[in-house]
Amino acid sequence: MFRLETDRALIGAFRPRDRRVIEMPSGIRFPLFVRDYLAWTETSGARVYLVFTAPGSNTPIGLIFRRDSPDSGTPSSRICDWCHSYGSSSDVGLLTTDVNSKRRVGVSLCVDLRCKEKLEDVADRSGRHPREVLEQLKERMYRFAHEALGIEAQPAA
Ligand SMILES: [Zn+2]
Repeated sequence: MFRLETDRALIGAFRPRDRRVIEMPSGIRFPLFVRDYLAWTETSGARVYLVFTAPGSNTPIGLIFRRDSPDSGTPSSRICDWCHSYGSSSDVGLLTTDVNSKRRVGVSLCVDLRCKEKLEDVADRSGRHPREVLEQLKERMYRFAHEALGIEAQPAA
């Protein structure tokens, strides 16, 4: 759980290069309490936003992904790298993000980043506690942010 006091705190979670293109989620109020993570899709559907905290940190990290338009020809089934659910190309697709002005990286993810709901669902049905799987989810999010983009987690103060 983490708290965002103002819209500036939310924007401040993102990398400076990303801050000028942010479309805020609709209907949010501050201070905002976030359980696990916050994800929203731009009204155009072109970008997906993610704000989360690395395990052991309470400093939010923001990422912006671009959605590749689903390849219309061959419907294929893919697997999400973070929650491991299968889906058609309209559910699970390649999301890309800028490393710098010259390079982008892509990762196969649930296009709406609703990994949490899917994991909670699976945990419920198998009688497991969702906390554990959600911690793993945040670890995978952080591993991507760290390894692909070089983002460092700030240890909890
Ligand atoms: Zn997923």
